[in-house]
Amino acid sequence: MSEFRLGDVIDDHCIKCRRITNHSIVSIVTAKPAKVRCRTCYHDHDFRNGEAPPSKKDLKKAELFKEVLAAAVPGAATEAVPEAEPEASEKPKKAKARGKKA
Ligand SMILES: [Zn+2]
Repeated sequence: MSEFRLGDVIDDHCIKCRRITNHSIVSIVTAKPAKVRCRTCYHDHDFRNGEAPPSKKDLKKAELFKEVLAAAVPGAATEAVPEAEPEASEKPKKAKARGKKA
């Protein structure tokens, strides 16, 4: 509904300023801002709907999460010891009994 026009000022997250700043629309694709220019530092970048891009911290977190997932899912990580189960070592007797039943 809202029509964007070149040169319009909109809020967006600037990587250089590392915060939400005023931006001018530089280019428009399918009625949406494609490129914007920070009006504080004049840095051009893709319009990101005012959302901050994933920081290095977030990327590292995602990486760690992937590793944990790979370790938790059998077969996902080939280097993981297949029969080692951390919960089984905590309660060896119960785990064994349950294992036989099932
Ligand atoms: Zn900026």
